[in-house]
Amino acid sequence: MKTILLIATGGTIASRPTGSGLAPQLLAQDILQCVPSLASVCRIDALQLMNIDSTNMSPACWLRLAQCVQSHYDAYDGFVITHGTDTMAYTASALSYLIQGSGKPIVLTGSQKSIYEQDTDARRNLFDAFLAAQDDALSGVFVVFDGRVICGTRARKMRTKSMNAFSSIDYPDVALLREGRILHYIREKKPSARPVFYSRLNPRVFVLRLIPGMNPSILRLLVQEYGALVIESFGVGGLPCYEQEDFLSAVSVWSAAGKPLVITTQVPHEGSDLTVYEVGARAASNPGVLEAHTMTIESVVTKLMWILPQTRDLARIKRLFYTPVAHDLLCFERAVQEIDE
Ligand code: ASP
Repeated sequence: MKTILLIATGGTIASRPTGSGLAPQLLAQDILQCVPSLASVCRIDALQLMNIDSTNMSPACWLRLAQCVQSHYDAYDGFVITHGTDTMAYTASALSYLIQGSGKPIVLTGSQKSIYEQDTDARRNLFDAFLAAQDDALSGVFVVFDGRVICGTRARKMRTKSMNAFSSIDYPDVALLREGRILHYIREKKPSARPVFYSRLNPRVFVLRLIPGMNPSILRLLVQEYGALVIESFGVGGLPCYEQEDFLSAVSVWSAAGKPLVITTQVPHEGSDLTVYEVGARAASNPGVLEAHTMTIESVVTKLMWILPQTRDLARIKRLFYTPVAHDLLCFERAVQEIDE
């Protein structure tokens, strides 16, 4: 029987009503007691790393989580992290960059309803998460939710209330869980080397959602405070060319400062392609402009946080950004072409 470490962080799964709304109250052991059938799956140790609504999750918390996995890595066969659903996709992406090449499963799960409620999804999700965490065929970071095993860099919360809250964006589910069994859709070779753990993140990344008629002066203000900017543009991607190219000249301020500016799309599926329209190609002609392609916004943000402490050289930033990690970037041909440029 495998031994799995539960790292509890809070979220709805651990919440109870308080005078001012639901808040995390239950501890790791309370949660485990709600699912006695787990005794037939694996041996479990538990630790309470924090007990927060995941709205309060931060890059500092991600570093604590990665460090916790690192310090217990050799003692366990896999890890389950209970977490609020609201920022779980960001945490899954962040951990995919902070812990690379893990041969053991690191599984995030949570629930839409607290574990003590009658009609909760928590008990099933927790059971499934431990099944996945002790599965020999899984390695790396995953979100397990509503019977699906989703690659950590592809997960996104798509529904605020329904049990099928998470989707895998433009990538197949890695596996399904049905009645206590795992059905693998994708089987990957286990990494033979030890994982690489990273211990630094730079949180100074800003995401700007483009709206029609936006005043580009905001870009000039943001460059003073932030190390990287992500613009969620429209459709396959582009920037407005109105008013004497104000927008494009504001973009140049970022490249002049040697800071990356990444263009992505606010459309949920299929990613960006700046080559399609003139508004995209003109923006992309600035050498400081990068493109998200098929990366999710959660991956773009956390990848930039992971890259920024490593280098200030824009060419190196670009190279790291376009190097796929844990299936975050799927359009390999274009990416490789851009690295070579
Ligand atoms: N606000 C909660 C959290 O993210 C929501 C949840 O867990 O479903 O911690």
